[in-house]
Amino acid sequence: MDSHCLFCRIVTGQIPADVVLETPRTLAFRDISPQAPVHVLVVPKEHHRDLGALAEADPGLAAALLSSLGAVAAQEGLDHYRVVFNTGTEAGQSVFHVHGHVLGGRPLGWPPG
Ligand code: AMP
Repeated sequence: MDSHCLFCRIVTGQIPADVVLETPRTLAFRDISPQAPVHVLVVPKEHHRDLGALAEADPGLAAALLSSLGAVAAQEGLDHYRVVFNTGTEAGQSVFHVHGHVLGGRPLGWPPG
């Protein structure tokens, strides 16, 4: 838990969020600025900076995160969806607590803009 981290504060309930799924090790909540009809963020409850750091520190938790991403997509009724892990500021990461974006509900172009 990093008291300065936005997503840690959502995990502990200090900051409200529209939670769609909670497991013992992960939390999923709707993005505050959705880029698609479905835009959910899935985070491990434990603080890790990004996907690489998480996978190195705790592969089991990385697997739990992937499992929750799939569960959210199924729960949201998405047959077609994209999962994005922005990693580093130049790739668009703005919150340094690893999170997967689940995006769907409209056609998603490739490559992304
Ligand atoms: P990224 O830019 O990949 O680090 O993604 C961070 C995401 O967090 C952005 O899509 C933001 O819209 C989203 N976000 C920021 N603050 C909140 C919040 N309080 N609740 C839900 N989503 C948030």
